[in-house]
Formats: sequence, C-alpha cells, structure tokens
Amino acid sequence: MNRVSFKTDLCKGCGLCVSACPRHIVALDTSVLNAKGYHPAHVTEAEKCIACAMCATMCPDVVIKVEKGCEE
Ligand code: SF4
Ligand code: SF4
Repeated sequence: MNRVSFKTDLCKGCGLCVSACPRHIVALDTSVLNAKGYHPAHVTEAEKCIACAMCATMCPDVVIKVEKGCEE
C-alpha cells in the first residue's frame, strides 16, 4: 500500500494539498490543532492513494512525504 505521511506540526493549514489531490482524500483535520495552531492536513482514505505525489509537490512547506508500495 502507498503511504502518505505529514510533519504535522509544520503544516500551516493552507489547503493547497487538499485542492491538489486527484482522489480527494486529503483534508484538513478539524479535530486537531498543531503546534502552530492550525488544523493540519491528513489523508482520509489511504487505501485510495495512487502515490502521484501531487500533494507533496504542492506543499510550500515540504510537510508531506509520499512512499509508493510500502509493506504496511
Ligand atoms: S499522493 Fe496523490 S493520491 Fe495520494 S494523497 Fe497525495 S495527491 Fe492524493
Ligand atoms: S499544502 Fe502543506 S502546509 Fe498547506 S495544508 Fe497541505 S500540508 Fe499543510
């Protein structure tokens, strides 16, 4: 399965990654406030990720890492 991970405390909640995802599985987590006081981005349905890395490419703060075909 592909894996998308976030350095959550670096996220500024700008939403660029949310707009960029062709599978519409990136969202701001309104149940969480990070160290900067923002709702950070997360992936809602990881099994739908195609590892296109559009989210990571769009992030101006290099918060997101995409790994294709991880074991778990
Ligand atoms: S790698 Fe592509 S499909 Fe996966 S969460 Fe990022 S933008 Fe969406
Ligand atoms: S583009 Fe980067 S900084 Fe903006 S919401 Fe997404 S992860 Fe956070």
